[in-house]
Amino acid sequence: ATPTALLVGTGRGAQFGVLIKGPEALESTRRVKTVVLDKTGTVTTGRMTLLDVHPGEGEQRAEVLRLAAALESGSEHPVARAVVAGAAEMGELPPVTGFANAEGLGVTGTVDGHEVLLGRARLLRERGLVVPEDLVRAATAAEAAGRTAVLVGWSGRARGMLAVADQVKPTSREAVRRLRALGLTPVLLTGDNATVARAVAAEVGIDEVIAEVLPTEKVEVVARLQAEGRAVAMVGDGVNDAAALAQADLGLAMGTGTDVAIEASDLTLVRDDLLAAVDAIRLARSTLGTIK
Ligand code: ADP
Ligand code: MG
Repeated sequence: ATPTALLVGTGRGAQFGVLIKGPEALESTRRVKTVVLDKTGTVTTGRMTLLDVHPGEGEQRAEVLRLAAALESGSEHPVARAVVAGAAEMGELPPVTGFANAEGLGVTGTVDGHEVLLGRARLLRERGLVVPEDLVRAATAAEAAGRTAVLVGWSGRARGMLAVADQVKPTSREAVRRLRALGLTPVLLTGDNATVARAVAAEVGIDEVIAEVLPTEKVEVVARLQAEGRAVAMVGDGVNDAAALAQADLGLAMGTGTDVAIEASDLTLVRDDLLAAVDAIRLARSTLGTIK
């Protein structure tokens, strides 16, 4: 279906800030019982701030931040933007060669002659780096405080921990309450750490959390829920979410999201808060009522 092809409800949809792709999208809203919400950029603003740089034993804070920020200059990820912004006063950063993105895990590249790895502990461990106990403890403490902890390492081990924080959008909690009032069960889905995910879920009133999911696995999570007999709506924004949005019975893309996500979705939300998703589902249901 083409994004512009419709129909009844389009006029009212535009007024609510909702674009509706086709009649099949409206059909499916009747059956939907579960709403999967992507965390970063959907429930939260996705604008992260660097709060802490914790050097490992014997490491220099400035060196840890310099190499981390240099490497993150090549990434568009919200974590990367926070790290780069956090190093703004450091002046010019060293160049990176052989930059690579490890989807949903972090980034790698050569900086100052070091092969630097940055991201989830899983990434560093998978590539054979040791994560010293002091950094494990620092990361655990940051996550307990609801922050996303990323590790940076080179030459055999992790050498620093960076803590970044995102903020829940002011309307997310009310939107979750309204989804429940419509008889829908919200589920939070994220590639982020489970502790952080649970903290965000608690803040907005979601009980069901699926965390530490790789981008490629998001589509499988949606398929698994469907296999349990749950018709699924999914709200997302990232490139990461496109396949899952297409797999869902009803895909809703945040208007601020990527073109890929929008193309994969049935509905595009022009406003970038979750209340727009509630309006979209309500509107789709009522439009269905009038065309029957
Ligand atoms: P989400 O599902 O919340 O949108 P992603 O799948 O984009 O999250 O990323 C999952 C996790 O991978 C992040 O929380 C972060 O720990 C790590 N990660 C991904 N890309 C980067 C990066 N460029 N820099 C640091 N960490 C990253
Ligand atoms: Mg995302």
